[in-house]
Amino acid sequence: MNIILFGPPGCGKGTQAKNLVADRGWVQLSTGDMLRAAIASGSELGERVKAIVDGGNLVPDEIVIELIEERLPEAEAAGGAIFDGFPRTVAQAEALDAALAKRGSKVDAVIRLLVDEKELVARMEKRAAEEGRADDNIDAFKVRLKAYQDQTAPLLPFYADQGKLKEVEGMGSMEDVAARISAALDEK
Ligand code: AMP
Repeated sequence: MNIILFGPPGCGKGTQAKNLVADRGWVQLSTGDMLRAAIASGSELGERVKAIVDGGNLVPDEIVIELIEERLPEAEAAGGAIFDGFPRTVAQAEALDAALAKRGSKVDAVIRLLVDEKELVARMEKRAAEEGRADDNIDAFKVRLKAYQDQTAPLLPFYADQGKLKEVEGMGSMEDVAARISAALDEK
């Protein structure tokens, strides 16, 4: 099973991905986590992407595509991948389709979490206090939201046309949202 958790920054993708890991034993593939780990380690890749990530812009497609491809065997062995924050552009989505097809696999479902903008800002501010992420400040957040609207939202028709898009109400408690995601996944 390969599922994509889709939505703007702060919509709860990471939290819900972790829920699915605990529930179903699948593997969370978060390009944001991978990039933050690279930055924290001070690797060459980390140095290359730090300013881009801190500013809230998207890193080049080929970087995240490579990070994801490296992790596909592990997810396959676990029986499922939860893509969290990937793909974010149409080029990434096409590369993911190609990489999965090579392995005789495909994207099974795209879960779009619907959260209103006021709530997104509130969640970002809460996380800023708890985790201290460099891109959890209002300026970087605005850039991230704009990147979502301009570059990532065009993926919605891409997946809707394939009949894979499922919309889930993302407001409310973590448990309620998890239950809605579970129901949407079991629908098929
Ligand atoms: P996230 O944790 O998913 O919000 O990602 C944090 C930051 O990492 C984003 O604002 C981007 O700078 C970068 N990033 C994460 N995933 C991607 C992706 N799929 N494509 C491009 N940039 C990404």
